[in-house]
Amino acid sequence: MIYKRSSELFASAQKVIPGGVNSPVRAFKAVGGDPVFIKEAKGAYIYDEDGNQLIDYINSWGPLILGHAHPPVIDALVERAEKGTSFGTPTELETKIAELAVKMVPNIDKIRMVNSGTEACMSAVRLARGFSGKEKIIKFAGCYHGHSDSFLIQAGSGAVTFGTPNSPGVTQGTAKDTLLATYNDLESVKQLIEANKDEIACLIIEPVPGNMGCIPPKEGFLQGLRELCDANNILLIFDEVMTGFRLAPGGVQQRLGINADIVCFGKVIGGGLPVGAFAARDEIMDYLAPVGSVYQAGTLSGNPLAMAAGLAMLQELNDRPAIYESIDKKTEYLHNGMEKVLEENNIAHTINRMGSMISVHFSEEPVVDFASAANAASNGKFNTFFHSLLENGIYIAPSAFETWFITEALSYEDLDKTIAAVGKAAKAL
Ligand SMILES: *Cc1c(COP(=O)(O)O)cnc(C)c1O
Repeated sequence: MIYKRSSELFASAQKVIPGGVNSPVRAFKAVGGDPVFIKEAKGAYIYDEDGNQLIDYINSWGPLILGHAHPPVIDALVERAEKGTSFGTPTELETKIAELAVKMVPNIDKIRMVNSGTEACMSAVRLARGFSGKEKIIKFAGCYHGHSDSFLIQAGSGAVTFGTPNSPGVTQGTAKDTLLATYNDLESVKQLIEANKDEIACLIIEPVPGNMGCIPPKEGFLQGLRELCDANNILLIFDEVMTGFRLAPGGVQQRLGINADIVCFGKVIGGGLPVGAFAARDEIMDYLAPVGSVYQAGTLSGNPLAMAAGLAMLQELNDRPAIYESIDKKTEYLHNGMEKVLEENNIAHTINRMGSMISVHFSEEPVVDFASAANAASNGKFNTFFHSLLENGIYIAPSAFETWFITEALSYEDLDKTIAAVGKAAKAL
């Protein structure tokens, strides 16, 4: 494939945008080469500026669970845009999407809309601190909760890909309030709680991480966290920015039957527009201004365009629950197909999957936490794999630490093409 125009566009972009991208994960820095510039997309396919058609497994990093330019979402957007894009006043749309979200997701009474997953997680932690009167938080190495200061400590995919797990610019004062645990390791959490008795406001976690590849929780791990939080008066925050409305209509809480105290959303909830949200039971949410004293705000929060796209997306998912079974089956099919061709070619690998999230790691060791994900990524095989797939029209994230997102738009023919490309890539490894 030829990527001439993409490379020219990248050269121009680098002159006026740092690194030529508005979010570091879009650069190909980890895998080498120039990023592909996309012109348009429809369903399972993206089309780049050189006219190449690619089968897309990024899907805007998760939001587009029904594929690109999904008609009900686009129709809702077009209809709303003509009536004005933002008023800075309450609108009925905001209540409608909130009602639907509260109906779909277990354990939440109220939800507040923001503009990104970063904002959702940042605000959720402020709320937890305000509610509990305590200051420290626990996060897990390799989990990503957006780019606000408290979270840029061992922050998974983007941050790790570029070798800045602890970003300059985060003060030591902030960093000292973020305690770091190991995913799938309850003992690491117990030790932190023991050493910081009565100081921990909340524990924030990707209940099924997708930012160090996809990592399913070990049996009893999330339940164990729930019990530790209850016993020590710590709020449990599920960052479901990636998993919310994806692993089930009610996210991981519903799929695995574990209750969180505060839940963060992003990605799917915006239907491809910039939306985040955080939600909890009344008792907690009523600490937020203007009812309570924890301040949180946003000029464009809940704007009608974003709400129209989000509402159309949630309505589709709520009305057609069979979608979940369908995307899970497609993901399983892809998993089995890739497993087969990698085995035929004697490539050491581990494939992790839950629902419609899947990741391929080039190591035989189980990938259960950040250390094992990093170990599997360290042999550099992923880069060869990535470029071989791209050469054959398959677009996965340019990092060994990212999940592939399966959408309902993918056909079994697309999956077969992908498996064939993985077989070719295996020969190149
Ligand atoms: C993407 C992501 C975020 C950040 O969301 P943005 O909209 O990029 O700010 C937070 N948490 C998780 C789990 C994510 O996957």
